[in-house]
Amino acid sequence: MNKTKVIASIGPASQDEATLKALMMNGIDAVRINMSHADFDFCDDIVRKVQTLNQTLKKNVAIMVDIPGPTVRIDRVKDGCVTFKAGTTVCIHMKEITGDHTKISVNYPGLASDVKCHSIIKIDDGKIILEVIDKEPEMLICNVIQGGLVRDHKSLNVPGVPLNIPFLRDYDRQIITYAHQNHLDFLALSFVRSSEDILEVNDLLIELGNDHLGIVAKIENEQAIEDIDQIIKASDAVMVARGDLGVEIPFERLPGLQKMILRKCHIAGVVSIVATEILSSMEDEMIPTRAEVSDLANAVLDGVDAVMLSGETTTGKYPVETTMMMERIIASSEEDINYYEFVETSMRTEKQDITGNIAYSVTDCANRLKCIAIVAPTVTGYTARKISRFRPSCPIIALCPDPETARSLALHFAVQPVHVKKLDQLDKMIHVAKECVKTYIERNEGHYILTGGYPFEGVKHTNFMRIEKL
Ligand code: PEP
Repeated sequence: MNKTKVIASIGPASQDEATLKALMMNGIDAVRINMSHADFDFCDDIVRKVQTLNQTLKKNVAIMVDIPGPTVRIDRVKDGCVTFKAGTTVCIHMKEITGDHTKISVNYPGLASDVKCHSIIKIDDGKIILEVIDKEPEMLICNVIQGGLVRDHKSLNVPGVPLNIPFLRDYDRQIITYAHQNHLDFLALSFVRSSEDILEVNDLLIELGNDHLGIVAKIENEQAIEDIDQIIKASDAVMVARGDLGVEIPFERLPGLQKMILRKCHIAGVVSIVATEILSSMEDEMIPTRAEVSDLANAVLDGVDAVMLSGETTTGKYPVETTMMMERIIASSEEDINYYEFVETSMRTEKQDITGNIAYSVTDCANRLKCIAIVAPTVTGYTARKISRFRPSCPIIALCPDPETARSLALHFAVQPVHVKKLDQLDKMIHVAKECVKTYIERNEGHYILTGGYPFEGVKHTNFMRIEKL
């Protein structure tokens, strides 16, 4: 059983029930629906299928939905696709028009006032590059520096230029309300600029009465990097969204920034996610490049909680094979993790917290005794999350009486959430723990640790650990 979690983005290549089932059987922990590309009908279809498969396969696969946030997109273009030629002039209109090879419009009318002459504009993840050479109140006049095909609704970035778009627009609010009403698990916030944006989403969740949806901040621009400490503090998870981040900043900075974000998340006990182009050659081929294998392995060695597949599972030819390959590379890389170093780093930054200190002892003991599992009955998920932060070398089986708690643990390193009936007696807890180790752990002999809070009523923190043998 792998400890590093896998998120699969869902699209045309993976939306059918058979493929979703195969992805879930092959170990994915969460599915992601990106509402920049999907609509509510698509979302309904995937949500129903995953919820049903969770029941029939006895899984706790979480559902993440991305809001577009303050992104700029181009409006419709003639026949869905036009060509911009290098050296020609293209006008960007603030009022909606149908675009052609000389003009387009955008869904953010404030762009002309935010952008200055000589600003660089990138379309479709930087494939097309324009330079603003003149501007009018309702139009930007640009020179095409790098041409190519421009399709409907592609993204448009202005690197380094803060845009005055509100963080949440009507569509974002509709998605958040939908996620609340349909009991989804994670909200991924695209183009977060500061912790203020996250607080705005939190306010909306409080208004809706939702305390379940986990907030994933997608780090995609320089502004987010500048406020990274506060963003980490305000989030449940942080995603290094390398696609857009590599458009907004020089992409040679990505590896260093990825390592910095992973380290900060680990110290803060916040889930880290690495996303985009992890096995992208597998969109067309059955095997990845050696460079992709190394990239994935390095994220695992750096202690990432979860890795995310995008194009590989949304439109790629081999979504299931890619997932299997990812699990295979993760399994091998996890053998090379320096678990002792992680436990020491975590201990140095642990607060004066009883659960945290027991989590440290449990992890240290599990690593030294080469335990096959840690079992943690948990009502809120806190005990399992705390142990996960110490990066144990064995899986943590989290026994959760609440299925929402089980899904909320889907992205945490090493946590295998299992939905169980309410555990109200110690004997029952010990019995269920043993049965779960037999069911979920491949190695059928060795020590395991049971840890939790007892008596069940009244105790506010983890207060015991028991070493058992299978
Ligand atoms: C990214 O830009 O890396 C990313 C994950 O964003 P998107 O939602 O566009 O896939």
